[in-house]
Amino acid sequence: MNSEQWFDRAKAVIPGGVNSPVRAFNGVGGTPVYFKSGKGAKVQTEDGTELIDFCGSWGPLILGHAREEVVEAVSNAAADGLSFGANTAVEAEFAELVCSLIPEIDMVRLVSSGTEAVMTAVRLARGVTGRRKILKFDGCYHGHSDYLLVASGSGLLTGGISSSAGVSPSATEEVFVAPYNDLAAVQEILKANGDEIAAVIVEPVAGNMGLVEPEPGFLEGLRAATADCGALLIFDEVINGFRLGPTTYGHMSGIKADITTLGKIIGGGMPIGAIGGSTEIMSHLAPLGPVYQAGTLSGNPVAVAAGMKTLELLRDESPYLKIEILGKRLADGINRIAATKGLDLHCAQRGGMFTPFFRKAPVRNLDDSKACDQKAHARYFHHMLDHGFYTPPSGYEVAFVSAAHTEADIDAFLEAFGKL
Ligand SMILES: *Cc1c(COP(=O)(O)O)cnc(C)c1O
Repeated sequence: MNSEQWFDRAKAVIPGGVNSPVRAFNGVGGTPVYFKSGKGAKVQTEDGTELIDFCGSWGPLILGHAREEVVEAVSNAAADGLSFGANTAVEAEFAELVCSLIPEIDMVRLVSSGTEAVMTAVRLARGVTGRRKILKFDGCYHGHSDYLLVASGSGLLTGGISSSAGVSPSATEEVFVAPYNDLAAVQEILKANGDEIAAVIVEPVAGNMGLVEPEPGFLEGLRAATADCGALLIFDEVINGFRLGPTTYGHMSGIKADITTLGKIIGGGMPIGAIGGSTEIMSHLAPLGPVYQAGTLSGNPVAVAAGMKTLELLRDESPYLKIEILGKRLADGINRIAATKGLDLHCAQRGGMFTPFFRKAPVRNLDDSKACDQKAHARYFHHMLDHGFYTPPSGYEVAFVSAAHTEADIDAFLEAFGKL
């Protein structure tokens, strides 16, 4: 059976044939690829083809697929029992490791996904401040909990409008939405509503509208503005955490968030999420404090084993310089080819994260990203797929270079890109 046949079969029993919408290829058209196995930078498909993977399971696989030490840690943990719903030593060790690698975090609570981490972070911020409202940025994705599935409404100073059916307006009324990189808009909202706002939540480097970096002063401005009005600052580092160094972006940039959410890399490919902060803030969580949060599989020993080994390898091997060099080689190559051929695009890149934006002008927020040529992105996606390269099947996503990629992989990508 090939991908097309599997997809037909799945569509009868799974809505849209997928367990997460972007996998349906609606952004690029065509039939989704069924993956069979992966090793390092390469995956094998149900079509009998081999692809060099630049999606990396949307971010967790910074060490590449099925890294031997991680697989070994997982099998050893699994053999000892899949779940206990009771405490295990490895949870304490893992929390110690996370807290030591992120000095801003005294305590960490483990959950099973990034969505759950952010949901908990927002509840915690509300519990700590006794306030209801939050401010988020257009184009930042924080998982699919009700009040974060929100797009900006017509007026900045009114609550947002949900971007999903089935979300209660009372949930999104609590949420202000500002354009990313627009500190003046934030200051305006906080000036009028600052005493009602529990938290400002942001992806410090945005990765869910393509790669958009914070402009100088933006995050510093958020830190100052939230401190001024008594709101907490939440850095959602589900993508950023351990991406550019063996710590958070917050630690690397010297900007201290009150609450940090983690996911993706910290699970090494297994389902995990985490909320971290100071002892004072984290003590509001049950059972120490009144903010409830729980999970049958929270701190699952198999997931924690994968995360533990992944963070240890990142700490000990620090592949970040290598990844940055490969990422830059890729982006520079794309930009050079685009210039030579007069293509209307540019490639944004930071470390292993990259996004070819199909317009020349820089992208500093969601409106800019939406102004890109999505048809041209779809052509690029299928061209690269036909040549053996898997990139995210949407123009609003970040692609990833991992520690398992080689210079030869990058050069092969560029050779194929040159034929676009
Ligand atoms: C992926 C992501 C999430 C959601 O994580 P899930 O594990 O998919 O629930 C939240 N925030 C950011 C910034 C993400 O990139």
